[in-house]
Amino acid sequence: MEIITTVADMKAKVAEWKAEGLTIGLTPTMGALHEGHMSLMERAVAECDRVVTSVFVNPIQFGPNEDYDNYPRDLERDAAIAESKGVSVVFHPSVEEMYPENYNCYVTMETLTDTLCGAKRPGHFRGVCTVVNKLFNIVDPDKAFFGQKDAQQLAIIKRMVSDLNMRVKVFGCPIVREEDGLAKSSRNTYLSAEERTAALCLSRSIFKAQELIEGGERDAATVKRAVIEVIEAEPLARIDYVEVVSLANMQPVETLGEAGLVAIAVYIGKTRLIDNFLYDYTEAE
Ligand code: AMP
Repeated sequence: MEIITTVADMKAKVAEWKAEGLTIGLTPTMGALHEGHMSLMERAVAECDRVVTSVFVNPIQFGPNEDYDNYPRDLERDAAIAESKGVSVVFHPSVEEMYPENYNCYVTMETLTDTLCGAKRPGHFRGVCTVVNKLFNIVDPDKAFFGQKDAQQLAIIKRMVSDLNMRVKVFGCPIVREEDGLAKSSRNTYLSAEERTAALCLSRSIFKAQELIEGGERDAATVKRAVIEVIEAEPLARIDYVEVVSLANMQPVETLGEAGLVAIAVYIGKTRLIDNFLYDYTEAE
């Protein structure tokens, strides 16, 4: 496995692969790799001849008071994990390589970015869309793999690819959880032992929503109330948002439609964590 740090070298490698007729998979990450990322790599390796895992803590998707400086970084460990999963290249550009002086072009999206993390983290999805667009142009993958953990991000990337007529096929992969239910996240490393226990209120509330919806509940307010009740029982938790939205446009719904998302963001101490439950009865009904 190679670690590539420049756009030129990455493009040269991609050209080599294309000349051989090989298919390329991409798994974009910010590093501090865990089993959630590994599941994307495994799927990509199973479906593509060559896989690129990007490891780039993208400064433009962080707000001014967010954790850009403290975000965990450990390239050596990440590279060892990627190699063990059969990844061909870890693409690890510097910030200057991705955003040279006078960098001036950004990708924005409308309705889908208005709610949830888009509303709470202004500019976040502008940063995500821009970096993912750049990665797609650099790696020119046949397939790209994203986690359902970041459900709004996945919906936005899918829409960007469709709206901008990109050739890549985007796949969503299920949320990988710890044994006790907590969704795996690089940010879980910020939690103290006490906070780690408190953080279980996220998955507990999501499982509660799942139970209600699978039991036939279709009133969004009832689902939200049940979720809020579980989180509010945890003294270390502070709700950032609890929302039930349509999968099509990420806008809140009053009655659950065919496909949607129960999405939450919760502060545990200073750490902001997200989780969600996706329901999709499009084919089942
Ligand atoms: P990040 O490094 O947090 O930007 O995440 C990189 C990719 O891994 C994104 O597509 C995430 O949705 C995905 N991911 C992160 N955590 C998980 C998880 N627990 N389960 C599945 N995918 C995940």
